[in-house]
Amino acid sequence: NGNVRVNMTNVDSPLQIFVRAKKKINDIFVEIDDYVKDAVTFMHAVSGEPGIATAQDVTNVEGFVDKVQAIREVLKRDHMKVAFFGRTSNGKSTVINAMLHDKILPSGIGHTTNCFLQVEGSDTDEAFLRTEGSTEKQNVQSVGQLGHALCDTRLQECSLVHVYWPRELCALLRDDVVLVDSPGVDVTPNLDDWIDQYCLDADVFVLVANSESTLMLTEKNFFHKVSTKISQPNIFILNNRWDASASEPEYLDQVRTQHADRCVDFLARELRVCSAKEAEERIFFISAKEALMTRLREREKPVSSPILADGHQIRYFEFLDFERKFEECISQSAVRTKFAQHSRRGKSIAADVCAVLDHIYTNATELKAAKVEQQRVLHEQLSAIEEQLTSSTRQMKDKINRMVESVEHKVSLTLSQ
Ligand code: GDP
Repeated sequence: NGNVRVNMTNVDSPLQIFVRAKKKINDIFVEIDDYVKDAVTFMHAVSGEPGIATAQDVTNVEGFVDKVQAIREVLKRDHMKVAFFGRTSNGKSTVINAMLHDKILPSGIGHTTNCFLQVEGSDTDEAFLRTEGSTEKQNVQSVGQLGHALCDTRLQECSLVHVYWPRELCALLRDDVVLVDSPGVDVTPNLDDWIDQYCLDADVFVLVANSESTLMLTEKNFFHKVSTKISQPNIFILNNRWDASASEPEYLDQVRTQHADRCVDFLARELRVCSAKEAEERIFFISAKEALMTRLREREKPVSSPILADGHQIRYFEFLDFERKFEECISQSAVRTKFAQHSRRGKSIAADVCAVLDHIYTNATELKAAKVEQQRVLHEQLSAIEEQLTSSTRQMKDKINRMVESVEHKVSLTLSQ
């Protein structure tokens, strides 16, 4: 189907922070799993001995097996999530496609969907769609087909459609990044519901703005709502369509400064999600369309318009810069929010099992001491009896001796008369 398998060895990508942490915590839970199962075997072995482990102790330790299993299941599905917002046609789908190095989501006029699209890695070679709450898989071979499938599926407004794409085709998907495209913030008043349903677990939010106009109130309002529900959300602002600036180079710096100042002001002073200095690192001027074209060319895919406007290389570098900062931010944030909780629970399970085993050990030690004491008392009693026996035997012997002597004496007296 024309897909080029990417063999990107991105060992120094910041996403590896998450990938490695996930592997490490997985390995730790394999160990905890072994430890808990060993403890259960041990408990069964000692439960026959009275006074060491109660039936409740055994049940408690058995319960930890299921808990560890449940955490391992969640851990398997843990991922980094980024959600894209902005007005319709600002270029959200194009940004996502550029980041995935391929035309995966339909973009452009006529492909406006009113549902959320969540692109995530599929473990098979196939690409398919699945609507939230259904188990039916619809195969998709191409973008065109995906567009049609989205139109055909009678979707409820603001429902979620999962787009599974082969992991091996995109580095981001392979490293467990899930990307969510949203309907334009201008098309629905249900911002609250959106945030509750799709955003509460997002690690990073990307506002795709249009550099040809200023930030709109609808865009700002959305992020005001986000920041009331999530403490300190990580927000990036992409001033997209920056290629348009090429036609007016004389205003370029001035326009850029004006946009940048407004964006810093929005993040640092209005939303107060970061400092002004941090905000400067979260604002980029890019052209998603050019970035996508450059990447499609690298992969020898046909592109419609071969001519790129002046300054496209600088814009592409800025896109790369955005991706790097984004990767750093998302992997650190996901490790903090997702794995910190797992490691706390892992630690508490290990401590609980340890406490039960400690308790059993104390019981066993006390039982042993009691038995030793019992033996000591028994030994003393035996010695006393033995002593008693010895002394009474000796007395008896003396008595007999005396009797014999007296008899002998009497006999000899009688004989001599
Ligand atoms: P969405 O509705 O926010 O998902 O926007 P799309 O990604 O569908 O983009 C809408 C239209 O804008 C498409 O025709 C894109 O090709 C075009 N577009 C996206 N990004 C850029 C860009 O950086 N520069 C230019 N000139 N056009 C762009």
